[in-house]
Amino acid sequence: MIPYGRQDISDEDIAAVEAVLRSDFLTQGPAVPRFEAAIKAATGAEHALAVNSATSALHIACMALDLGPGDWLWTVPNTFVASANCGIYCGAEVDFVDIDPETYVMCPKALEAKLVAAKGAGRLPKVIVPVHFAGQSADMAAIGALARAYGVRVIEDASHAIGARYQGAPVGNCAHSDICVFSFHPVKIVTTAEGGVATTNDAHLAQRMELHRSHGVTRDPSLLQEDSPGGWYYEQVALGYNYRMTEMQAALGASQMTRLDAFVARRNVLAARYDRLLADLPLTRPVQNPDSYSAYHLYPIQVEDRARVFAYLRENGIGVNVHYIPVHTQPFYCARGFARGDFPAAEAYYDRAISIPLYAGLTEADQDRVFEVLRAALQASKVGAISRWISPRIVRAAPASFFASS
Ligand SMILES: *Cc1c(COP(=O)(O)O)cnc(C)c1O
Repeated sequence: MIPYGRQDISDEDIAAVEAVLRSDFLTQGPAVPRFEAAIKAATGAEHALAVNSATSALHIACMALDLGPGDWLWTVPNTFVASANCGIYCGAEVDFVDIDPETYVMCPKALEAKLVAAKGAGRLPKVIVPVHFAGQSADMAAIGALARAYGVRVIEDASHAIGARYQGAPVGNCAHSDICVFSFHPVKIVTTAEGGVATTNDAHLAQRMELHRSHGVTRDPSLLQEDSPGGWYYEQVALGYNYRMTEMQAALGASQMTRLDAFVARRNVLAARYDRLLADLPLTRPVQNPDSYSAYHLYPIQVEDRARVFAYLRENGIGVNVHYIPVHTQPFYCARGFARGDFPAAEAYYDRAISIPLYAGLTEADQDRVFEVLRAALQASKVGAISRWISPRIVRAAPASFFASS
C-alpha cells in the first residue's frame, strides 16, 4: 500500500533521539529550546513554544488570548476538528466561515460578510482561526486587515504549512496574526511523533502560553506574587496543563528541521509532477494562490463518484484519504445547532474530495502507479455511472411478473 502521507526518518534523526536517551534529561532539558530555536529561525517569529501536540498549542493560544464563556471562536469547516475544539475547551461558542471554492481556505469575502452581520447583532468573535489547508496559506493580508478593523484576534492553524511562504515570507512569522500553530504529527511535513509549536511576536502572549503549557506554575521573578524565600520556590498563578514536549521529541524535531527546505522543495516537485500527470484526467486539481508557496502537506483532487473512486484506489494499493469531513456536520457540532447545508462551499468540496499520496519519500514510480490506478478508477467509475443510469430504466420497463417471488 502506498500511504497518503509518511514520515521521513534519517540515520541522523535516530542518532539525535538516541543521544537524548543516553543523556541526563528526558524532559525539560536542552533539546526543547534547541527545537524552538530552529522554529524561530525558520519562521522569523520572536517566540516559539513547543508542546505535545498542535491541539495543545491551539488550546494554550486560545487561553493566552483570554477566550472564555460568552466569547466566540470562528474557524473553517474544512479542517480537522481540533481547530474548532480549542474554542469549546475554553467554554466559548464556535462558528464557521465558509471556504473559497478554488483554494479551499477561509474565504475573506465570506469572513467580511459574517463580521458585518455579527457586528450588527453584537456578536463579534474574539478569535478567528484560519487554516492553511493542504499547506497553502490562507489570504492572511485580507484576513489580518479585517481582524484589525473589527478588533478580532487571529490564530493561524498552520498544522499543514511549516516551510510554506505567503507573499514571500515564511508562514509562522505572525505578520498578520497574533499566534501561529504548527503540528508535527508523522503525516505532516516535519515530525516529532506527536508535537506542536505556537509562534508569536508578542512577549506577553508567549509568557502566558509558557505558563499554560506547564500547570500555570512559574519561577519567573516578574510573575511571582510573593518574594521568593529560596531556590525551591515556585508559584501557581494560573490554571495550566501539562502540555510539555519531551526531549526525545524535540531532538527528533530539531534534526528534522535541518531538512525542512528539502522536504518542502521535494513536495513541490512531486505536486508539479502530479499537475502534469493528471492534467488530462476528468478531475479537479488543487489551485494555487499566486501569493503562496505551499508546503504541500496534501494533494487534494476532486472527482465525480468519489466513494467508488476512493474504494477502487484503496482496493488497488493506493492509500488515499479524505480531508476533511466538514466539522459542522460532525454529530458533536450538529448537537450544537449546525446542520448540513450551513456551509455549501466546504460541503461541495468535501463531497468530491480525495487526498492522493504525497510525502517527501514518494518516488516517481510510486507516483506513476497512483496515476495508473487513478486513471483506471475514473474509467471504471464512468462505466459504473452509466450502468447505474441505465439499470433503473431497465428495471422499470420489466414486467411485474419478473419480480414476482413465485
Ligand atoms: C493535524 C492537525 C491538527 C492537530 O494536530 P495534532 O498535532 O495532531 O494535535 C490541527 N489542525 C489541523 C488543520 C491539522 O491538520
